[in-house]
Order: sequence, then structure tokens, then C-alpha cells
Amino acid sequence: MSAFDLYARRQPGFEDRLKSTVTQLHDAALRHAGRIVQATSLGAEDMVITDLIARHRLGIAVATLDTGKLHAQTLELMQRLEQHYAPHGLTLARFAPEPQEARIFVQRHGEDAMFQSIALRKACCQVRKMEPLSRLLAGRSAWVTGLRREQSDGRAQVLSEEDDGQGRTKFNPLAQWTWSDVWHYIQANGVPYNPLHDAFFPSIGCQPCTRAIGVGEPFRAGRWWWEDEAAKECGLHVKPAAAPSMALPEKETAA
Ligand code: SF4
Repeated sequence: MSAFDLYARRQPGFEDRLKSTVTQLHDAALRHAGRIVQATSLGAEDMVITDLIARHRLGIAVATLDTGKLHAQTLELMQRLEQHYAPHGLTLARFAPEPQEARIFVQRHGEDAMFQSIALRKACCQVRKMEPLSRLLAGRSAWVTGLRREQSDGRAQVLSEEDDGQGRTKFNPLAQWTWSDVWHYIQANGVPYNPLHDAFFPSIGCQPCTRAIGVGEPFRAGRWWWEDEAAKECGLHVKPAAAPSMALPEKETAA
């Protein structure tokens, strides 16, 4: 059974939500011309946004984080995305961790550090996600994400436009979309997607930290599944004032 069979439904109000999203992206691109980027996780929502950017030639840059811990299917999707949208002139910029920082982290804590403690898991996210994200966003005044209110309790209040707490505007143009909307759009428009979505991975992150979910489990239950629900953000979408400490454990800061 594919993700289309499981999720794709044309729900009431879909056309209005789509129209509103396209209008918002057009306005965002105009207001932040040359200084706006989509930070794509390559998840289903982000693939919808990339498709809209390409289809409407919006002039919004598209970039992703290659953490060095991604599934083979996600790496393969990067190539398919580039091939699919090359005729639209769209390219995918990749931001990886600093090789030396990643190497030192693994030497000190091992490949499975994320399972040892929440502090080490967040330290890994700092090295592999947060630092590369700071370079991805450098020089930008705005960014676009695929956050939706449905995704988790922690995202239930997500606004379609907000201040990211670091002087940039963050646009979440799918904030009000349903999971059925996302898959209806993907199916109707032939959008490339990660085959892990066909295997009960609704939310896809790094390979060690993502598992399939079971029937009835919450949308993000497969992310950092060994942690309490409250800790389940990597920091990418947490405003600095509210963010838990991202400081590296003592051993990391000493060198
Ligand atoms: S999601 Fe897991 S592997 Fe990826 S950066 Fe965070 S802790 Fe490391």
C-alpha cells in the first residue's frame, strides 16, 4: 500500500488553501527578493513547497542539510529532485557539518552518541544540523519551512508567518494544510517523494533517529522515539529564547 493509498484525499477547502499558499509564497519572494531560502528537509511537505517554487518560478533558493546520517533513500531523493526540477532552473544547495567537528564528535562519543543521553543527542544535532543551518541562513532575511499545525502538539500554534527570533521572517505556508492535502497535491502533480513515506515513515530525519510508526501512533512518534515527547525537537524550529541549551558537553568545549 502506497502513501497515496493511505493518505491522499481531496478535502473540502483544499483549493483555497493551495491558492493562499501560492499567494503567500509570491508575496514572500517579492518582499525578500534574493534573500529568501527554503530550508527543505525533503519530507513530503517540503517537496510540495519546492514544487510550488519551481512551478511558479518564484525565485526562492532551495537548500537542505546533509547531516552525514541520512537514509540512502533521502540521498537518492536529492538527486531525483535536482533532475526533476533542472528544466525549471532550480538547484539544491547542500550544507554539511564541518568535517573536523563531526569527526572529533564521533571520536569522543562514538557513532551512537545520540542514544547515550539527551545532551549528547542535542550536541550531535548541534554539530550536524544547527551549525550547518546557520550557514544555510547566513545573509538571508527570510526562510520557508514545511511546518504544519497537525504535525505535533508543539506545532499546533504554528503561524503562517512569524519572527524566527534571530531577525528573520519564517514563512510556514502549509501551516493549515492537512496530511491528506499534502499527499493529494503530490499525487496530482507528480511530485518526487521519499519512498520511506510508503513504509510508514511520515516524518523523516536522520537514519539512526527515525523509525516507522505503528497504527494509531502520533505523526512524529518515529523521531527520537526513545525520548520524552517534550524533548523532540532538534532546535531547527525552536526560537532561541525558548530553546533548551544547545551547549556541547564539557568535553566538546574544552578542545
Ligand atoms: S537527528 Fe540524530 S543523527 Fe541527526 S543530527 Fe540529530 S542526533 Fe545526530
